[in-house]
Amino acid sequence: MTIKYDAQGLVPAIIQDATTSKVLMLGYMNEEAYKKTVDTKQVTFFSRSKQRLWTKGEESGNVLNLVSIKNDCDNDSLLIQVHPAGPTCHKGTGNCWGEENNSTYGFFSNLEDVIAERVANKDTNKSYVASLFSKGINKVAQKVGEEAVETVIEAMDNNDELFLYESADLLFHYLMLLQAKGFTLKDIEAELKGRHK
Ligand code: AMP
Ligand code: ZN
Ligand code: ZN
Ligand code: ZN
Repeated sequence: MTIKYDAQGLVPAIIQDATTSKVLMLGYMNEEAYKKTVDTKQVTFFSRSKQRLWTKGEESGNVLNLVSIKNDCDNDSLLIQVHPAGPTCHKGTGNCWGEENNSTYGFFSNLEDVIAERVANKDTNKSYVASLFSKGINKVAQKVGEEAVETVIEAMDNNDELFLYESADLLFHYLMLLQAKGFTLKDIEAELKGRHK
Protein backbone atom coordinates (compact mmCIF):
# COMPACT_ATOMS: atom_id res chain seq x y z
CA MET A 1 0.00 0.00 0.00
CA THR A 2 1.33 3.45 -0.94
CA ILE A 3 1.16 5.73 2.10
CA LYS A 4 2.19 9.39 2.07
CA TYR A 5 3.73 10.13 5.45
CA ASP A 6 4.01 13.82 6.42
CA ALA A 7 7.24 15.75 7.15
CA GLN A 8 7.41 14.10 10.60
CA GLY A 9 7.00 10.67 9.01
CA LEU A 10 3.44 10.29 10.32
CA VAL A 11 0.06 9.49 8.80
CA PRO A 12 -3.25 10.04 10.64
CA ALA A 13 -5.29 6.88 11.19
CA ILE A 14 -9.02 7.06 11.83
CA ILE A 15 -10.09 4.06 13.89
CA GLN A 16 -13.62 2.77 13.24
CA ASP A 17 -15.52 -0.10 14.84
CA ALA A 18 -16.17 -2.64 12.07
CA THR A 19 -19.50 -3.67 13.61
CA THR A 20 -21.07 -0.45 14.87
CA SER A 21 -19.40 1.90 12.33
CA LYS A 22 -18.65 4.32 15.20
CA VAL A 23 -15.43 6.32 14.92
CA LEU A 24 -13.45 5.30 18.01
CA MET A 25 -10.32 7.45 18.00
CA LEU A 26 -7.68 9.17 15.91
CA GLY A 27 -4.02 8.26 16.12
CA TYR A 28 -0.83 8.70 14.12
CA MET A 29 1.32 6.00 12.61
CA ASN A 30 4.84 6.00 11.26
CA GLU A 31 5.98 3.29 8.87
CA GLU A 32 7.12 1.04 11.71
CA ALA A 33 3.79 1.37 13.52
CA TYR A 34 1.94 0.57 10.31
CA LYS A 35 4.07 -2.53 9.72
CA LYS A 36 3.66 -3.69 13.32
CA THR A 37 -0.10 -3.22 13.01
CA VAL A 38 -0.21 -5.39 9.89
CA ASP A 39 2.12 -8.03 11.35
CA THR A 40 0.52 -8.36 14.79
CA LYS A 41 -3.08 -7.56 13.75
CA GLN A 42 -3.27 -5.20 16.76
CA VAL A 43 -3.35 -1.47 16.06
CA THR A 44 -0.06 0.22 16.95
CA PHE A 45 0.49 3.97 16.74
CA PHE A 46 3.46 6.25 17.01
CA SER A 47 2.66 8.19 20.18
CA ARG A 48 3.66 11.82 19.73
CA SER A 49 3.60 12.41 23.50
CA LYS A 50 5.55 9.27 24.40
CA GLN A 51 7.73 9.52 21.25
CA ARG A 52 7.63 5.75 20.81
CA LEU A 53 5.55 2.97 19.31
CA TRP A 54 2.37 2.52 21.29
CA THR A 55 0.20 -0.54 20.89
CA LYS A 56 -3.23 0.59 21.95
CA GLY A 57 -4.23 -1.51 24.96
CA GLU A 58 -0.69 -2.43 25.98
CA GLU A 59 -1.49 -1.51 29.62
CA SER A 60 -5.29 -1.56 29.73
CA GLY A 61 -5.80 -4.67 27.62
CA ASN A 62 -8.26 -2.72 25.51
CA VAL A 63 -6.54 -3.59 22.26
CA LEU A 64 -7.88 -2.82 18.79
CA ASN A 65 -7.99 -6.04 16.78
CA LEU A 66 -7.36 -5.29 13.12
CA VAL A 67 -10.09 -5.97 10.58
CA SER A 68 -9.04 -3.87 7.57
CA ILE A 69 -6.96 -0.89 6.50
CA LYS A 70 -7.96 1.53 3.73
CA ASN A 71 -6.02 4.34 2.16
CA ASP A 72 -7.84 7.57 1.29
CA CYS A 73 -8.07 9.12 -2.19
CA ASP A 74 -4.66 10.82 -2.00
CA ASN A 75 -2.92 8.31 0.28
CA ASP A 76 -2.42 10.68 3.21
CA SER A 77 -4.85 9.24 5.75
CA LEU A 78 -5.92 5.76 6.80
CA LEU A 79 -9.29 4.33 7.75
CA ILE A 80 -8.75 1.34 10.00
CA GLN A 81 -11.61 -0.93 10.95
CA VAL A 82 -11.25 -2.88 14.18
CA HIS A 83 -12.95 -5.07 16.74
CA PRO A 84 -12.13 -3.29 20.03
CA ALA A 85 -11.50 -5.51 23.07
CA GLY A 86 -13.00 -2.91 25.44
CA PRO A 87 -13.71 0.81 25.74
CA THR A 88 -11.29 2.64 23.47
CA CYS A 89 -10.82 5.85 25.45
CA HIS A 90 -8.60 5.75 28.52
CA LYS A 91 -11.33 7.80 30.23
CA GLY A 92 -13.56 4.74 29.98
CA THR A 93 -15.98 5.74 27.24
CA GLY A 94 -16.55 3.78 24.06
CA ASN A 95 -14.85 6.37 21.91
CA CYS A 96 -12.61 9.41 22.47
CA TRP A 97 -15.53 11.83 22.01
CA GLY A 98 -17.27 10.63 25.16
CA GLU A 99 -19.81 8.50 23.30
CA GLU A 100 -20.95 4.92 23.78
CA ASN A 101 -19.88 2.52 21.06
CA ASN A 102 -23.42 1.67 19.98
CA SER A 103 -24.81 0.89 16.58
CA THR A 104 -26.98 3.56 15.05
CA TYR A 105 -29.38 2.73 12.28
CA GLY A 106 -29.30 5.95 10.27
CA PHE A 107 -32.74 6.94 9.03
CA PHE A 108 -34.40 4.23 11.14
CA SER A 109 -32.94 5.73 14.31
CA ASN A 110 -34.33 9.12 13.23
CA LEU A 111 -37.72 7.48 12.76
CA GLU A 112 -37.56 6.01 16.26
CA ASP A 113 -36.88 9.53 17.58
CA VAL A 114 -39.76 11.03 15.57
CA ILE A 115 -42.15 8.37 16.89
CA ALA A 116 -41.02 9.07 20.48
CA GLU A 117 -41.53 12.80 19.98
CA ARG A 118 -45.06 12.33 18.52
CA VAL A 119 -46.02 10.01 21.38
CA ALA A 120 -44.72 12.49 23.97
CA ASN A 121 -46.59 15.43 22.42
CA LYS A 122 -49.92 13.54 22.29
CA ASP A 123 -51.21 15.80 19.47
CA THR A 124 -53.79 13.27 18.31
CA ASN A 125 -55.40 15.66 15.82
CA LYS A 126 -52.22 16.31 13.88
CA SER A 127 -50.27 13.10 14.32
CA TYR A 128 -51.18 9.62 13.05
CA VAL A 129 -48.63 8.11 15.44
CA ALA A 130 -50.04 9.95 18.45
CA SER A 131 -53.60 9.01 17.52
CA LEU A 132 -52.79 5.29 17.03
CA PHE A 133 -50.88 5.21 20.34
CA SER A 134 -53.79 6.88 22.13
CA LYS A 135 -55.98 3.88 21.22
CA GLY A 136 -53.73 1.57 23.23
CA ILE A 137 -51.05 -1.00 22.61
CA ASN A 138 -53.47 -3.68 21.33
CA LYS A 139 -54.47 -1.41 18.43
CA VAL A 140 -50.80 -0.87 17.54
CA ALA A 141 -50.20 -4.62 17.64
CA GLN A 142 -53.29 -5.25 15.53
CA LYS A 143 -52.03 -2.80 12.88
CA VAL A 144 -48.72 -4.67 12.74
CA GLY A 145 -50.70 -7.87 12.12
CA GLU A 146 -52.68 -6.21 9.31
CA GLU A 147 -49.58 -4.81 7.64
CA ALA A 148 -47.85 -8.20 7.95
CA VAL A 149 -50.76 -9.90 6.20
CA GLU A 150 -50.76 -7.24 3.47
CA THR A 151 -47.02 -7.76 3.01
CA VAL A 152 -47.51 -11.52 2.70
CA ILE A 153 -50.29 -11.03 0.13
CA GLU A 154 -48.13 -8.71 -1.99
CA ALA A 155 -45.18 -11.09 -1.71
CA MET A 156 -47.31 -13.78 -3.34
CA ASP A 157 -48.38 -11.80 -6.40
CA ASN A 158 -45.89 -10.26 -8.76
CA ASN A 159 -46.31 -6.61 -7.83
CA ASP A 160 -42.97 -5.48 -6.42
CA GLU A 161 -44.17 -1.90 -6.01
CA LEU A 162 -47.00 -2.93 -3.67
CA PHE A 163 -44.71 -5.35 -1.85
CA LEU A 164 -42.30 -2.50 -1.10
CA TYR A 165 -45.15 -0.24 -0.05
CA GLU A 166 -46.57 -2.79 2.40
CA SER A 167 -43.10 -3.70 3.67
CA ALA A 168 -42.55 -0.04 4.53
CA ASP A 169 -45.93 0.05 6.29
CA LEU A 170 -45.00 -3.08 8.23
CA LEU A 171 -41.61 -1.80 9.34
CA PHE A 172 -43.02 1.57 10.36
CA HIS A 173 -45.81 0.03 12.44
CA TYR A 174 -43.38 -2.48 13.90
CA LEU A 175 -41.16 0.41 15.08
CA MET A 176 -44.25 1.85 16.78
CA LEU A 177 -45.02 -1.50 18.46
CA LEU A 178 -41.42 -1.82 19.66
CA GLN A 179 -41.69 1.63 21.19
CA ALA A 180 -45.08 0.88 22.75
CA LYS A 181 -43.49 -2.15 24.42
CA GLY A 182 -40.57 -0.02 25.64
CA PHE A 183 -37.97 -1.49 23.28
CA THR A 184 -35.77 -0.14 20.50
CA LEU A 185 -33.91 -1.59 17.53
CA LYS A 186 -30.85 -1.87 19.78
CA ASP A 187 -32.66 -4.46 21.92
CA ILE A 188 -33.43 -6.48 18.80
CA GLU A 189 -29.80 -6.25 17.73
CA ALA A 190 -28.65 -7.47 21.15
CA GLU A 191 -31.06 -10.41 20.99
CA LEU A 192 -29.92 -11.41 17.49
CA LYS A 193 -26.25 -10.98 18.40
CA GLY A 194 -26.76 -13.26 21.40
CA ARG A 195 -27.90 -16.04 19.05
CA HIS A 196 -25.06 -15.43 16.60
CA LYS A 197 -22.33 -17.44 18.33
P1 AMP B 1 -3.62 1.63 26.76
O1 AMP B 1 -2.91 1.75 25.45
O2 AMP B 1 -5.10 1.48 26.58
O3 AMP B 1 -3.04 0.54 27.61
O4 AMP B 1 -3.41 2.99 27.53
C1 AMP B 1 -2.12 3.41 27.89
C2 AMP B 1 -2.08 4.91 28.01
O5 AMP B 1 -2.24 5.46 26.72
C3 AMP B 1 -3.18 5.53 28.83
O6 AMP B 1 -2.86 5.65 30.16
C4 AMP B 1 -3.33 6.88 28.19
O7 AMP B 1 -2.35 7.76 28.63
C5 AMP B 1 -3.08 6.61 26.77
N1 AMP B 1 -4.30 6.31 26.00
C6 AMP B 1 -5.01 5.16 26.02
N2 AMP B 1 -6.04 5.18 25.17
C7 AMP B 1 -6.00 6.40 24.58
C8 AMP B 1 -6.77 7.03 23.59
N3 AMP B 1 -7.83 6.42 23.04
N4 AMP B 1 -6.44 8.26 23.20
C9 AMP B 1 -5.37 8.86 23.76
N5 AMP B 1 -4.60 8.33 24.68
C10 AMP B 1 -4.88 7.11 25.10
ZN1 ZN C 1 -6.31 12.64 1.86
ZN1 ZN D 1 -9.49 9.09 24.56
ZN1 ZN E 1 -50.45 -1.39 4.41
